[in-house]
Amino acid sequence: MNKQQKDFDIVIVGGGVIGGVLALQLAEQGHRVAIIEALLHGMGKSDPERVVALSHGSRCYLEGLGLWQDVAGAGAGMIRHIEVREPNNRGLVQMDAAEAGVEALGYVVEIADVVRPIYAALEDKVTWFRPARVLSFKHVDDGVSISLSQDGEQLNISAALLVGADGTHSQVRRMAGIGTHGWDHNRFGLVASVRCERGHADTAYECFRTSGPLAFLPLADDRFSIVWALAPQEAVRMMDLPDRMFLKRLQRAADESVLPRSGRFESLGKRACFPLELRIAKEYARSRIALVGNAAHTVHPVAGQGMNLGLRDVIDLLAVLDAPLAKKDAGNPLLLSAYAEKRRADVLAVAGFTESMLAGFGNDLAWMRALRAQALSAVQSIKPLKDELLQHAAGLTHLRKSSKAQINQEDCPVGESL
Ligand SMILES: Cc1cc2nc3c(=O)[nH]c(=O)nc-3n(C[C@H](O)[C@H](O)[C@H](O)COP(=O)(O)OP(=O)(O)OC[C@H]3O[C@@H](n4cnc5c(N)ncnc54)[C@H](O)[C@@H]3O)c2cc1C
Repeated sequence: MNKQQKDFDIVIVGGGVIGGVLALQLAEQGHRVAIIEALLHGMGKSDPERVVALSHGSRCYLEGLGLWQDVAGAGAGMIRHIEVREPNNRGLVQMDAAEAGVEALGYVVEIADVVRPIYAALEDKVTWFRPARVLSFKHVDDGVSISLSQDGEQLNISAALLVGADGTHSQVRRMAGIGTHGWDHNRFGLVASVRCERGHADTAYECFRTSGPLAFLPLADDRFSIVWALAPQEAVRMMDLPDRMFLKRLQRAADESVLPRSGRFESLGKRACFPLELRIAKEYARSRIALVGNAAHTVHPVAGQGMNLGLRDVIDLLAVLDAPLAKKDAGNPLLLSAYAEKRRADVLAVAGFTESMLAGFGNDLAWMRALRAQALSAVQSIKPLKDELLQHAAGLTHLRKSSKAQINQEDCPVGESL
């Protein structure tokens, strides 16, 4: 099968944020792209809303694609300050956007508000199959032949490269026989939004509790979005509590970490729970298959890095597929090995950092508590340590490394900032 005979250069399964931005840029690079998405309109609004904190670096990236204005226009909470502490223990790390020289360290947005402008931009640039599902795929000559079902009809298409961007339970990963490393955390992330007496003052709080972290992210309308890691039985109990009781329990858990600034929690939106797990694909690429986003790695949301990491997959895959070799054969094994090699260190660093924080704070021994208090105080007072953390929180380290990212030159100068 040669390039002319194939229907597409690249077929992407999964039109979430990661699959969507990848498709957009691949089409702009001149590749013939198709997306197979299970949902008719992609990920839409939900109640409770599914929100993510995007780093300053990710904002710059979306800005370079001409998408940020619409995302921000739909409502983005600004994270100007971050406070990390352990309730009932000493030690506190405070980070400020001004210290990093940026407007905000991150932005809290609804995933649906990121998906919408991506779909609008993609409109006539790619071929859509939705709602559709892959039935099977097989390797043929120098390509992949994919069988899919759409509207009860079976279709066959071919491509040089098949990309799995279909989330944590990736069908592409499974069908390709790629296993994962990792474990269930035996915790659920309870998400909800809360309104408090004095508003959030653009501050994100991370409260490390031995039972699991509790994060407060500032939404655009002065509410907080919370992610509360809970053991399964506790999660069931907290889901069932009447609102007033739930707010009391939340107040107790947040304690002096949040309440002195925010005041009492006054009202609560709907609650939902997500299983928390670590899943890292054993291979990010294999014979004409590449994985991006949560299909390649699902990390605990404690550090708010999942989507930011997925956007960096996109940047690295695009850099590889911009090579002259890719114009002839986008699924060339050399290119895919280069992509896998590029991603390994970043994913392991984020997963390692996240897991070590969870392990470090998951122990209630007195000497461990004392050590943690000292560690937090050290980060707060030792400038090089604090600067390093700030750079990571704002996504500046990776922005600086990626000269390929399209960055708005004024707010996000290349060389300074993903
Ligand atoms: C509680 C919680 C809080 C989080 N907070 C943050 C945060 O603050 N910051 C951050 O960066 N990240 C955060 N994350 C992680 C972030 O949500 C994910 O990393 C990100 O959404 C992954 O994007 P994706 O496009 O790879 O996958 P998804 O968002 O899962 O999108 C996958 C797409 O593929 C489609 N699909 C699925 N299966 C198929 C199939 N078989 N065929 C066709 N299409 C299919 C789906 O419909 C969907 O459109 C959080 C996650 C959780 C659970």
